[in-house]
Formats: sequence, structure tokens, C-alpha cells
Amino acid sequence: MGVTDQLAARQARARARMDELGVDVLLLSVGADLPYLTSYEAMPLERLTMLVLPRDGDATLVVPELEAPRVAPQPGVFELRGWSETEDPIAIVAGLVGSSARDVAIGDLTWARFVLRLQDAIPAGRFRAASDVTGPLRVVKDAAEIEALRAAARAVDAVGLEMRERPFGGRTELDVHREFADRILEHGHQRVNFAIVGSGPNGASPHHEASDRVIGDGDVVVCDFGGTMDSYCSDTTRMFVVGEPTAEVRDVYALLVDAQEQGVRAATVGTSCEEVDATARRVIEAGGLGDRFIHRTGHGIGLEAHEDPYLVSGNAEPLEPGHAFSIEPGIYFPGRFGMRLEDIVVATAAGPDRLNTGPRDLAIVG
Ligand code: ZN
Ligand code: ZN
Ligand code: ZN
Repeated sequence: MGVTDQLAARQARARARMDELGVDVLLLSVGADLPYLTSYEAMPLERLTMLVLPRDGDATLVVPELEAPRVAPQPGVFELRGWSETEDPIAIVAGLVGSSARDVAIGDLTWARFVLRLQDAIPAGRFRAASDVTGPLRVVKDAAEIEALRAAARAVDAVGLEMRERPFGGRTELDVHREFADRILEHGHQRVNFAIVGSGPNGASPHHEASDRVIGDGDVVVCDFGGTMDSYCSDTTRMFVVGEPTAEVRDVYALLVDAQEQGVRAATVGTSCEEVDATARRVIEAGGLGDRFIHRTGHGIGLEAHEDPYLVSGNAEPLEPGHAFSIEPGIYFPGRFGMRLEDIVVATAAGPDRLNTGPRDLAIVG
């Protein structure tokens, strides 16, 4: 299926969902819903970009005229309406919405400055979040999306593999961070979203920002890295240690590998998100370190690095074929070190499909 056909099929599903919910018009600006339905990403600018998708009627992409050359035309998917510097895009959108629209679904990340003016310009409208419409569509990845996620995963796997041959000791976290970032781009990503390098005590802070701390002998180093490749995100965590690990480090890591493995195996179609979380957690609890695993087991991934479904206690939603998510248990010792292991997995009828396939053993580096 070509891109235009794929977008048309997604739009048809969006309209069906709008019909189900009684939504009259969908308004999308910045965020991932817009590229999902148009393959165009809005610039986060004071000049409004907005897709107007009526339930019955043609879709129009309203864009600042100076951005229009960046839009790839998708015949039959949307019309392009460029607006010049002296026009009012709010009035253009309100005109396209029309006076009969009541139930308006607007992109969750749309800037308040635009939402407030649109609410004034569409006084009869009842506004709700566009994710009511797009969420159930986006959470189930189609074959092309899964292949894009797989390609992104392979690229960061190659980076992880290369870094096993690189020295860490004597370098700052920032220096290693920059090397990860450079290699992620070299391997085909357009954007680096993060490259966490948490050495020694810094690894105990799950979202530590790389610092000027110099990595020393014996340091355990958490490396959590990913970016965006052809619109889809990668996200993986691998563990490194400078020199021979202590017995404690080996034991804790073996427990973590087991927890992650059990979590991946539990990620079968029909299993609830919270049960996958509980499965990984039970392994760490049985090892006596339950209170050191301080976050959820995973998050969905796709056009966004973090999206539905979330593998967390309280989420009873069952996994469906096409759900893509991370399995990333962690064990953290404040003031000492931390460990996390992360792969992206897709739930399929044939069982969990792990997209990250690089070595998961502790990488001993110089
Ligand atoms: Zn390379
Ligand atoms: Zn990560
Ligand atoms: Zn993650």
C-alpha cells in the first residue's frame, strides 16, 4: 500500500470512530495525530497549522503559506489551504468547521492560545480531546508501522553493539552521551530524543541528564538511548561496567535480566498491561529488591517515544495484536548505582515479538 492509500485508510477509520462518538469535526495541530493522518508534522510556531477533518466532508490542511512548500500533497486525503500573513487562520478554521458543528475534537497538544480563540470563534462547539478519536487507532500499529519500529530498533541495537567496544573509563558522561547521539544519527535516525548516561551513583536516578562526572573504574553505567527514524521512535537501555563487576553487581544484574525476560514472555495478547508489570515486579520482589524498582515496567511507543499502552498497575486493558511497548524494569540504589534493561516488544498472535535483539549481558568495557 502506498503512503496516500495508507493515509486514506487511516482517515476512514478516524471517520468511523467519529461516527461512533458523535464527533462532528476533528481539529489537529502540533503532535503526532497530524502526521499519523497526513504524514505532515506541524511546526510548533505562533503561526497556526491545523487539519480540519469533518465527519462528513473533505479534509483541509490549513497552513501558513510559507510552510506550504514543505507539505507533501496527498490527493484525496486533504486539500491544502495556505494562509497569508494578513489573513486570520482562526477565522479560516472556524469557516471550515461551519455553524452546524457541535462536537469538536481538538488535538491534545494544541496550544492554549489557539484553543481559547477557537472556542470563541465556534461558540456552539463542545470541545473534547482528539485522543478520544485517535487513541484507539494509533495504539494498534499496522504492518508498516511495526517495520518502521523494527528498523529504528535495529539501528540503536547497532549503536549499543558498537559501544561495547568503546572505552568509558576516564571520559565524562557528556562525552559518552555525545558519542551515543552521533552514532544514533549515523545509523539513520533523523533525531536523537535522549541518550542517558548515568554512571555510578548517577545511575540511581532513572532520568539522569548526562553530566561532567568522570566515569571511573568499577562504575556501573546505565545507557538509555533512542531517537526518531522515519517518524518512528526507538528506545533501548543497555548496561555497561568499567572493569570486572563485583559479585553484588553480577547478582543484581542477573535478577534484572530475569525480571525483564519474564516481563517480555508475559506480554501476550489478552494479558492485561498491569499483569505484565506485576510479572516483572514479582521477580524483583522475590529477589528481595521490590522497593528498588520504583517505576512502571513500560510504555507504548510509536510516533511518540511515550504513548499508550502504559504497563502499570491500575491499567487493566488487555494487550492486543499490534500494541508496541517497552519492557524496562530497573533496580536503583541511591548514592551507589542503578540498573535498567529495556527492549521494545510488539504483541502478536504468535507471541511477543522483541524488536531489540542486541546482546543483553553486562558489557564489560575499559
Ligand atoms: Zn556505527
Ligand atoms: Zn529508554
Ligand atoms: Zn522507555
